[in-house]
Amino acid sequence: MTTLAFLGLGAMGDPMAAHLASHARAHGHRVLVWNRTPAKAEAHAQAHGTQAATREEVAAADVIFTCLPTSAEVDEVMGRMRPHLRSGATWVDCTSGHPDAATRQAAELAARGVTFLDAPVSGGTVGAQQGRLTVMVGGDAAALETARPHLAFAGKVVHVGGTGAGFAVKAVNNALLGVTLWATGEGLAVLGRAGVNLGAALDVINASSGRSNASENLIPQRVLTREFPATFALGLLAKDAGIAVDLTQSVQGSAPVLAQVAALLRGAQRAVGAQEDHTAALKLIETMNGTELR
Ligand code: NDP
Repeated sequence: MTTLAFLGLGAMGDPMAAHLASHARAHGHRVLVWNRTPAKAEAHAQAHGTQAATREEVAAADVIFTCLPTSAEVDEVMGRMRPHLRSGATWVDCTSGHPDAATRQAAELAARGVTFLDAPVSGGTVGAQQGRLTVMVGGDAAALETARPHLAFAGKVVHVGGTGAGFAVKAVNNALLGVTLWATGEGLAVLGRAGVNLGAALDVINASSGRSNASENLIPQRVLTREFPATFALGLLAKDAGIAVDLTQSVQGSAPVLAQVAALLRGAQRAVGAQEDHTAALKLIETMNGTELR
């Protein structure tokens, strides 16, 4: 029997592990879950027929999934699990992590006969609940084929390159989300000050070349409604944009717009709160312009 393990039952990990469990059940596999706050693992076991386990137990699984805030937390659990890992296992890290960490973690795991794949996801909590996430995978292509049948939470899986490439693509994708979200917020603040109805302005933008996911979905549903539902933390988006800046440095690239948005998101995180939804970054733009986006 193949044993699968999932560590990190947060906003993303909880529904991802639920899809893993229903797929595994149909194929006779076992799914162990671990969470820092154990009550969440016990609740997951009750709800989805998984098994709450210790870090030593999850370390002995054939395929280990992690979905934690940053690579630092992955380092922490990896350090505790390392002595108990099973040679021949695959570690699939769905955290939006750091490419440099991926290189180091892959080497550390390889020394124990374990293959590391960086496999961050996009699609948000709705995509996770629907099992329609896009998974961008860095690392060995053969290891991906071992893991692929278990990616039950995925709508699309793309092998983007060697170790760290998945994390790199994710960081750039989210930096682009930061750019469109921030720039659209600025544009709307200016229009608001000019007395334009923002719903009408978005109606035009969304039928024109300025549209984006931010203008079509995020701002109408989360900002203009003043709901800012907390599904993806502003602190996590700021972290991703920071990784894109680190990547720029490491390849000696020139990406001043990405650097600007990383700095703006860091400032917004401080002003508004790291745990707030990422769309709440626009509250800083509101303060800067003395107007509310309604
Ligand atoms: P959450 O904050 O909802 O969940 C974080 C998880 O990590 C929880 O299970 C938490 O445990 C655990 N954790 C936190 N610190 C530690 C630690 N020191 N040691 C062990 N476990 C720890 O985050 P998300 O699920 O939103 O995000 C997870 C990853 O997915 C991030 O890298 C994020 O950038 C990425 N992501 C998020 C998306 C979203 O829409 N939310 C979309 C795509 C990617 P506990 O329950 O004890 O707090």
